[in-house]
Amino acid sequence: MSISGVKGMNDILAEDTPLWQELESAARRIFSLYGFSEIRTPVVERTELFCRSIGETTDIVEKEMYTFEDRNGLSLTLRPEGTAPVMRAFAQHRMHASDQITKLYYMGPMFRYERPQKGRYRQFHQIGAEVIGSEDARIDAQVLAMLLHYFEAIGLQDVELQINSLGCPECRPGYRDQLVAFIEQRLDSLCDDCRRRYRTNPLRVLDCKVPGCAEATVEAPSVLDHLCTGCQDHFARVRGHLGDLELPYAINPRMVRGLDYYTRTTFELLTSHLGAQSAVAAGGRYDGLLRQVGGPDLPGIGFAMGVERLALLRGESRPTVEGPDLFIAALGETAGREAFRIMSKLQLKGIRVEIDYRGGSLKSQMRRADKLAAQRVLILGEDELNRGTAPLKQMADGSQVEVRIDEKLFDLCAHLLSTEGD
Ligand code: ATP
Ligand code: MG
Repeated sequence: MSISGVKGMNDILAEDTPLWQELESAARRIFSLYGFSEIRTPVVERTELFCRSIGETTDIVEKEMYTFEDRNGLSLTLRPEGTAPVMRAFAQHRMHASDQITKLYYMGPMFRYERPQKGRYRQFHQIGAEVIGSEDARIDAQVLAMLLHYFEAIGLQDVELQINSLGCPECRPGYRDQLVAFIEQRLDSLCDDCRRRYRTNPLRVLDCKVPGCAEATVEAPSVLDHLCTGCQDHFARVRGHLGDLELPYAINPRMVRGLDYYTRTTFELLTSHLGAQSAVAAGGRYDGLLRQVGGPDLPGIGFAMGVERLALLRGESRPTVEGPDLFIAALGETAGREAFRIMSKLQLKGIRVEIDYRGGSLKSQMRRADKLAAQRVLILGEDELNRGTAPLKQMADGSQVEVRIDEKLFDLCAHLLSTEGD
């Protein structure tokens, strides 16, 4: 019986990796322009890290974590998101000691036990970025500018940026009380989850995807009407800087995000092309998070994008993959051996070469060269070996030159390198 992969966890096949590599390398290129360096943390962490940071009464912690005990009885969890691990690493390695502001990015798999569907998987991949150490509103705007820059670089412009402010420990409690009072009037229309946790975590009700809950809270008090002057000022500055940079955005006062650690600025990048999975990127400020995981009391802000959703949005527009620079069609045993030797020498010089291992007819080898989209073919038989020269055929136009097959392959290399890129 054959063994299949785990439900909701996908293979990324060779035909798709060029797109993934493009999405990843564009992130490395753009993020480095803004001064970000990469950090790589383990895919497992102690379970308490996520409980403490994401929040006990969030969907992620209540229902979606892959948690298990190791052989020593230690509770571990496959990371459901990347921010908490980065904060854990920041605190553990005392990164604040080396600079007043730290900019980090990461990419890699995340794990959530969700109902798999298009754009929603149990292992998925995020590319994310974090800035730790500044509460300057220009940082918020810069993070958003970088995110939009990235989307432009990968050719996805049909996205809407929505922003909101969730206040801070000073003004949030007042808003919470009002929201709880509002929800209490409408308990009958809410789903079980919302009824169960509206007291401990009323913001979750605004984020609930159940249509009844969304309808019942249309008229809910707006967090923006309850911001303290500090948060109002910060939000106004962020909007001002976005205006200076001419970045379009909409304000969505209902956006609360699915993780409890957010404060002040929150945002989502939305698309209308992925059905229910409309968020491609999301994030916000988390000024109390680092201290919560045992680090210094430093502010932070960041975002994460879902790579599967980016890939889906790119659809058919895939990067073109170039075939080998050279295919050597060899006829006969001796030529086959020589083709293998030549191939290895050329590869050491940085030239991409392929040969045929089955020893078929010239016609079948030419077909294979065609299929691989080889740019040139060297035809090598007994005669060619005896005379020490062989025809080198340019596949695009069929033109042909005779090159010397000497010990050092100078002639062949010169031809391959001189015509490179045409
Ligand atoms: P959603 O509202 O779609 O559930 P979320 O608010 O849970 O998203 P975040 O935790 O903010 O998402 O993660 C940031 C991004 O990671 C999302 O915008 C999305 O692109 C991606 N993402 C989150 N969960 C999944 C998943 N299960 N499968 C694929 N991508 C995901
Ligand atoms: Mg989710």
